[in-house]
Amino acid sequence: MNQEAPPLVAGRKSPWELNPKTKRDDMTQETKFCHNCGTEIDTEATTCPNCGLLQHDKALHTEQKNPGLAAVLSFLIVGVGQIYNGQIGKGILLMVIQVINFFIRIFTLFLWTPVYLAVFAYAIWDAYNVAKKINSGEIEM
Ligand SMILES: [Zn+2]
Repeated sequence: MNQEAPPLVAGRKSPWELNPKTKRDDMTQETKFCHNCGTEIDTEATTCPNCGLLQHDKALHTEQKNPGLAAVLSFLIVGVGQIYNGQIGKGILLMVIQVINFFIRIFTLFLWTPVYLAVFAYAIWDAYNVAKKINSGEIEM
């Protein structure tokens, strides 16, 4: 029996016990937060120990959009909210439609205004809703 052998577990020190400065870095690398309840959980965990929710990597990696910001952007310039959401083609199309509507409006002495306003309202509504659907995973970008 070798009495000089160090105890395997009791004597072993964690890196942060040896150097307190490494603790914070180590913590941020080894833990993540449940996207449902916010409990700090291990990065390798597949379910949250607090609420039991499955940790979808897709949901965690999806870039979250701000629906209010998307709506405001399309309010300021029609189509910009769509571009912010990543729907660049739709955004440019709405911009082009609205430029055409702007000129038709003048040529028709503003009889075309309801159409112009309808596209305007649609762009704001769409930007807001698409941002929400991206956040919930309903629309994959
Ligand atoms: Zn949770």
